[in-house]
Amino acid sequence: MKPRLSFAHLPTPVEALPRLSDHLQGPSLFVKRDDQTGLAFGGNKTRKLEYLLASAIAQKADTLITAGAVQSNHCRQTAAAAAKFGMDCVLVLFGEPQIPPDGNHLLHYLLGAETVSTSRENVQQKLEEVYQSAVSGGKKPYLIPYGGSNPTGAMGYVNAMLELAEQDIHPDWIVFPSSSGGTQAGMLVGARLTGCAGNVLGISVDKPADTLTNTVTDLADETAAFISKDWSFSTSEILVNADYTGEGYAIMGEAEIEAIQLFAQYEALILDPVYTGRAAAGMIDLINKGFFKRDETVLFWHTGGTPTLFASRYQERLLFKQSP
Ligand SMILES: *Cc1c(COP(=O)(O)O)cnc(C)c1O
Repeated sequence: MKPRLSFAHLPTPVEALPRLSDHLQGPSLFVKRDDQTGLAFGGNKTRKLEYLLASAIAQKADTLITAGAVQSNHCRQTAAAAAKFGMDCVLVLFGEPQIPPDGNHLLHYLLGAETVSTSRENVQQKLEEVYQSAVSGGKKPYLIPYGGSNPTGAMGYVNAMLELAEQDIHPDWIVFPSSSGGTQAGMLVGARLTGCAGNVLGISVDKPADTLTNTVTDLADETAAFISKDWSFSTSEILVNADYTGEGYAIMGEAEIEAIQLFAQYEALILDPVYTGRAAAGMIDLINKGFFKRDETVLFWHTGGTPTLFASRYQERLLFKQSP
């Protein structure tokens, strides 16, 4: 369909969650293990990077440049892909780094990336500076957008839906954390391609519903055009729930702690405090409210992010909260 390198561990398994389903007395729960995509602890960005790296290498790039938060999973997987293909990597990071670096930030260094820190407002300007200085230094940089979310990156989740179609599960709902929109946009295009009838429900991690809906709609349109499909998506068919953004991005609340403990203790599944913990908390609340029917099947798409558990800012509260 589009040039792609093959380095993720695919297909990722689909597993039943019988103990958790039973405990919650709700729909049948399953999980799609994209925390197991294999690239330096894996996650959803690995699928996007299979297409982004193919594009970078086709352009003979030798340096990857991208941006994200200090604990960015996207930056960690980008640094890993750069290392694997012998490229340089510059990460423009915003937020307060822990000293010594922990979680994903430790891995950014370990994977050999150069890091440049800036404020959230200055990211765009810093990216341009880094890009220009790579060019003046005789490098061929390739800029990967925030979260890897452009049509090339979103192809990772078009492909993921083709993969799911082969896995003999027909979920009524697919639930996952949504933020920069590439995962959701790719899933929507993939669902249309495969005739998947399940509802693709993104739990917003940090954006108001209308903002995320518009982002996903536009990116789904562009991704469809990218594979020469004359499709358009309307905002009314994009399912986004923004009720669980809590105190904001990367601020772990009680609901996330409970969801992380529940998944760990009922299914030995490790979630992360920023993305999957939040989406799981939302899914659990929706189950408790009777949003899903008992005879429905819900696939929780685990998008990864687990190294963030080992960021010291989260550890104390995860240790001392009572067990579920
Ligand atoms: C980036 C990320 C997401 C969000 O994916 P988008 O394509 O940006 O919407 C979800 N979960 C994890 C663990 C992530 O790192």
